[in-house]
Amino acid sequence: MKYSNNYTAMDRELLMQKVQMQMSEKRFKHVLGVEETAIALANKYGASPEKASIAALTHDYAKERNDGEFQLVIRRDGFDLELLKWNNAIWHGIVGVDFVQRELGIDDKEILDAIALHTTGAAEMSLLAKIIYVADFIEPGRDFPGVKEAREIALINLDDAVAYETKHTLAYLIEQSKPVYPKTIETYNKWVANHG
Ligand code: GDP
Ligand code: FE
Ligand code: FE
Ligand code: FE
Repeated sequence: MKYSNNYTAMDRELLMQKVQMQMSEKRFKHVLGVEETAIALANKYGASPEKASIAALTHDYAKERNDGEFQLVIRRDGFDLELLKWNNAIWHGIVGVDFVQRELGIDDKEILDAIALHTTGAAEMSLLAKIIYVADFIEPGRDFPGVKEAREIALINLDDAVAYETKHTLAYLIEQSKPVYPKTIETYNKWVANHG
């Protein structure tokens, strides 16, 4: 399939190949599951299915790069040096966009933002960013307690699905005594917490 817009000069098959070369078979299968889910959500909620496809195919593009590469890019390309205190879980989205932009030539800001925010979410998220965030969580290959409910909610209200996922992720991080990235807390405060 050829994408009708200019978000990428590649057609879908070539983009898929470039992504596939960057990752294990298991992760690539996850990526295809995210794409299928993101396109369905785009059709349901009125986003561009082509943008959903491109963002989904590239969301974990950098996930298997080694730490040294991320550290180099953070220093070289002017990222907040606080990022050096984090790890692949946080880098592969926020810094991963750098690889997607330079290596795949994708420049659309909404697509790059959706990739950047797919792990942590954000207080401000475009429709596309919400779709990628949720699709990553509920794609058919995911299996964890709560995924069925997350899928059901996603069919009813996308913002509620963002909230459900955020609460679930934060609860998991706290349960595991993992550090919580500040943006994850911003996402929680915006989409989950009851203010006032
Ligand atoms: P994946 O790349 O498809 O596996 O999924 P994600 O990009 O959504 O998440 C990658 C990892 O980051 C998961 O293990 C999440 O639990 C973890 N994660 C999400 N938010 C945070 C955070 O604020 N802090 C830390 N330490 N990990 C997080
Ligand atoms: Fe990811
Ligand atoms: Fe996720
Ligand atoms: Fe993913």
